[in-house]
Amino acid sequence: MEVFYNSTRGGASPVKASQAILKGLAEDGGLYVPDRIPALDRSLKELSEMDYRQTAYEVMKLYLTDFTEEELKNCIDRAYDSKFDTEIIAPTAEAGGAWYLELFHGPTIAFKDMALSILPHLMITSARKNELKKEIVILTATSGDTGKAALAGFAGVKGTKIVVFYPKDGVSPIQERQMVTQEGENTLVVGIRGNFDDAQRGVKEIFSDRELAEEMSAAGYQFSSANSINIGRLVPQICYYVYAYCSLLRQGRIKEGERINVAVPTGNFGNILAAFYARSMGLPVGKLICASNENKVLYDFLRTGVYDRNRPFVLTASPSMDILISSNLERLIYCIAGNNAAKNRNLMESLYSEGKYEITAEMKAALEDFYGNFAAEEETFAEIRRLYGECGYVVDTHTAVASAVYRKYVEETGDGAAAVIVSTASPFKFTRSVMKAIDGSIEGKDDFSLADELSELSGVKVPRAVEEVRSAPVLHDKQCEPGEMDKIVKEFLGL
Ligand SMILES: *Cc1c(COP(=O)(O)O)cnc(C)c1O
Repeated sequence: MEVFYNSTRGGASPVKASQAILKGLAEDGGLYVPDRIPALDRSLKELSEMDYRQTAYEVMKLYLTDFTEEELKNCIDRAYDSKFDTEIIAPTAEAGGAWYLELFHGPTIAFKDMALSILPHLMITSARKNELKKEIVILTATSGDTGKAALAGFAGVKGTKIVVFYPKDGVSPIQERQMVTQEGENTLVVGIRGNFDDAQRGVKEIFSDRELAEEMSAAGYQFSSANSINIGRLVPQICYYVYAYCSLLRQGRIKEGERINVAVPTGNFGNILAAFYARSMGLPVGKLICASNENKVLYDFLRTGVYDRNRPFVLTASPSMDILISSNLERLIYCIAGNNAAKNRNLMESLYSEGKYEITAEMKAALEDFYGNFAAEEETFAEIRRLYGECGYVVDTHTAVASAVYRKYVEETGDGAAAVIVSTASPFKFTRSVMKAIDGSIEGKDDFSLADELSELSGVKVPRAVEEVRSAPVLHDKQCEPGEMDKIVKEFLGL
């Protein structure tokens, strides 16, 4: 049965998957959601005998129903290949009694590669299917990892251009280097003098600027998004939850049907929403453990039912989670409002005008499968130190947040079910913080020599992604105020 995509705000007509992927955001500013969550149509046993690519096909075919089998398999084969440093693509490692699902084996060593290595292929295929003659301009706001992963995916892709905005002082040195050294005529990287929320708001405003859209259209361009507001980002992220469960099943670590808990380091709520979708498809997941850093707006929301972004924005050692407006939460709000677009729109308008909203008791009751907590900076560092000291396993700062929160959950509830902790970045992407946690002596050392030290200490080779940017020339040095983002985009496109 064909799945159509509706806007969470009710002001746009339903579209097919390929059209939702091309548009990114709906015209009314809402996010596209599937009109129903399909159920897995293969048994867990069958799925457990499949490799990553086969599993991805079995999941994605249920959502991208207007893609032919050949089209979808072609996208999957091009995405999950030797760009990843392991054939398993998404391996699970045991440490301290939990399973770490390592999603950082792709070209830019963060979990964004899981979706962004396939998104360009989905988008080009969608363009072809819809006979789109215009050039696609990808606009992306990044808290550090999406930017590079999107650049890597779209650089040199015919028929596309990509513009990335990142907070100038809000990303790690290696993250910034990865972006500003990006090659490719069709790429533009801009540091904004503001935080991630400013960048994300700016991008959303450009998207809903009707006048600009007309100007673009006349010049032969159309915007789309590589952020997790694009359903083409979200759907590929569901696959690794199914794959992780089935890997544990295959290895005899769990029995078929046994529930597992999942802990996710959360920022924009895309990754954990994918886990929620996987669960809704029938994957036996117990609790969805939502882990925040000191920007704990989601923890407060899950506890009180009030979402309130009126608070100081904290720069932490887990910058990819430094977010106060979690865009993808809107998809969950729409769902717990009973797929009621009007109700959701009211709440989002209140978020825009007052910076907060409160859900009803009934909606809050629908969130009981979520558990939220946060890890303060010192707890995050302590968790990195503990895992290294007790298990010899090195995690990055984001994963450490999830790991620390998972421990709080177990302590509070005594729930000893098998758990998957989602490991979202390689420790080599946040070397300075990781080495500070483990070793303490980082003064006067640059990030690359710290990477060498980390390699020695962990016995893991410095990843190619870090070696590549060690000596690469800086190709992008543009900066702007958040209010100038539209001007920069126009300039780049020659409008
Ligand atoms: C993007 C990112 C996150 C947050 O994921 P969301 O889908 O935005 O919740 C966590 N960790 C790392 C390393 C990331 O890059």
